[in-house]
Amino acid sequence: MEGGILNIFQRLWLTFVLCCLVIDLSLADKDYDQYLNECQSLEDDQARQALNLAEKKLSQLSKQQSPLIVSGFLGCAAWAAVNLNETELALNYASDLELMINDINDSEAKINLLRRVGGVFHQLGQRVAAVDNYQKAMELAESLNIQKAQIPILVNLGVLHSQIREEDQAIKIYRQALALMSEHNDFTYQAPVLFNLALTLNGQHRYNESLTVFHEIEKMLTPQWPDSRKAQVYGGLASVYISLKNHVKAQEYNQKALAILSEKEDKSILYYLSLTNRADILIANNQPQQALAIADEVWQYYQAQENREQLLGVNNPLYALSNVYESVNKPIKALAIRKLATEIDEDFQDTFNKEAMAQMQARLSDSQQRKQLAELKTQQIKDQIELNAIQHNRQLILLLVAFGSMLVFIYFYWQRQTNKRLHAISIRDSLTQLGNRRAIDEWLSARNMPNPPNQRLMWLIDLDLFKDVNDQYGHEAGDEVLKALAKTLTGFVNSERMVARWGGEEFMIISDDLTESEMEKFCDNLMKSIATTNIYYENQQISVTASIGVCEIKAQGDKAWHQALSAADKALYQAKDKGRNCMVCGDIKASY
Ligand code: GH3
Ligand code: MG
Ligand code: MG
Repeated sequence: MEGGILNIFQRLWLTFVLCCLVIDLSLADKDYDQYLNECQSLEDDQARQALNLAEKKLSQLSKQQSPLIVSGFLGCAAWAAVNLNETELALNYASDLELMINDINDSEAKINLLRRVGGVFHQLGQRVAAVDNYQKAMELAESLNIQKAQIPILVNLGVLHSQIREEDQAIKIYRQALALMSEHNDFTYQAPVLFNLALTLNGQHRYNESLTVFHEIEKMLTPQWPDSRKAQVYGGLASVYISLKNHVKAQEYNQKALAILSEKEDKSILYYLSLTNRADILIANNQPQQALAIADEVWQYYQAQENREQLLGVNNPLYALSNVYESVNKPIKALAIRKLATEIDEDFQDTFNKEAMAQMQARLSDSQQRKQLAELKTQQIKDQIELNAIQHNRQLILLLVAFGSMLVFIYFYWQRQTNKRLHAISIRDSLTQLGNRRAIDEWLSARNMPNPPNQRLMWLIDLDLFKDVNDQYGHEAGDEVLKALAKTLTGFVNSERMVARWGGEEFMIISDDLTESEMEKFCDNLMKSIATTNIYYENQQISVTASIGVCEIKAQGDKAWHQALSAADKALYQAKDKGRNCMVCGDIKASY
């Protein structure tokens, strides 16, 4: 039985441990990395989905303590917003991200995120912020000597410097990027970098260097390249050759470029640049009239206000057009165009400077506010994390308490059951399964005295000449007789009576429901039943009789009990004396 209980305990414990595990697993944070990957793979082509996912996760992220994950989703949300042209939203996410990056310890991830946030600012035209972040990324990559990570940052920085017309700086950066690419055999960005470098060199009048780079790109050209890219390379080569006064080569490349560009219905600025080159070549070939016609076509395009934006590129194409007019002897038009070119340039510079100043000021005042906001947010997130941890712990503690209480309850229940069983055993006679003396004690002390005319009677029943039964049939046969008679006696019991084995071959009945007049009948029946109980043992029939001493128990308590017992004993003795198989009533009154 002990083993059985232990077994139950072990099973309960196992169940508990499993429950804890299941609960702990369900409470554990979900795998945010997986969502982040999903988000990043969606941000370009399915930006709306990426933004929704990132925003959903950001709202749940109070549980997540890692600024790395939060930053990941912020970056994703910012890029998705950029791709959806939601400028303000993108700017907000980028600014949050910029602050959050400070809390990141993983350097490589930090470099990547700085470049990402720089990229967002770059796309949004926030060049000051973009440069800030690109430079931070570069500094970190340099300090850790992670050269490979520097390549994409340098590419972005180079483009930015070209855009803000810091060409020398841009050229230096492009060259640095190219050197790193060949050092690390990573040529992902090689073609665009070479192209930007060639263009910038051309713009800086470093034609020979530009030519070398353009030819390097030309060698890389494959039929898989998009036509527009090929046209860019050919156009660039034509333009450099014009500057180098190699009009044969210039014409060759110019024709290649125009062959591609004139096919297109929607003519790009590149087409008009190539047309300008063509005009240049025609002048060199002494065909001023054709050159003039082309120049007019180009001028018409450039004059249109909607195309003005395109003139703000790296190399303002109006200067080249002005040169054409000058060459075909149209100095006034040439001057007018040059004036416009200068105006546009100044305008650009002015706008750029103003923009940069405004951006810098905005960044300064914004950074303070955002810092405070971010601190507040960080604190809120920390509080939430702590709260979640407390709740988590509380749930576990509750579970433990519940389980502990269950164990205590089971323990006490088991102990009670064991005690009940032990008690049942202690008041039972193991041979006859009747109660023993202790059972009589308990039965009496649990009851009140019966109401008159009923009386409490003690029936002491002693089997006659039982020794002879043992002697004649054996002790085991004697045992069988005792068991059978116990059953017979049980038939005389009701809720107002009890029967017990008093000792050896003596039984006792206590009755609370019999009146004096009923006693005789009861006793006759009892003796008759005993005498007619036939026991068969090893094909032999055994029967016995019993002598009975009866007396009244007058009151509750030990004294009355002992007096009754001795009176019953005496009566029994008298019955034996009278010849057995009879009942004698004790003189109770006298003995009391
Ligand atoms: P009587 O009472 O009529 O004077 O004669 P008796 O033979 O019954 O005499 P006594 O009461 O002195 O003997 C009781 C016998 O009962 C003695 C013992 O061998 C037998 N006895 C007592 N307890 C058991 C028991 O548990 N099993 C068996 N088989 N016999 C028992
Ligand atoms: Mg006896
Ligand atoms: Mg006897």
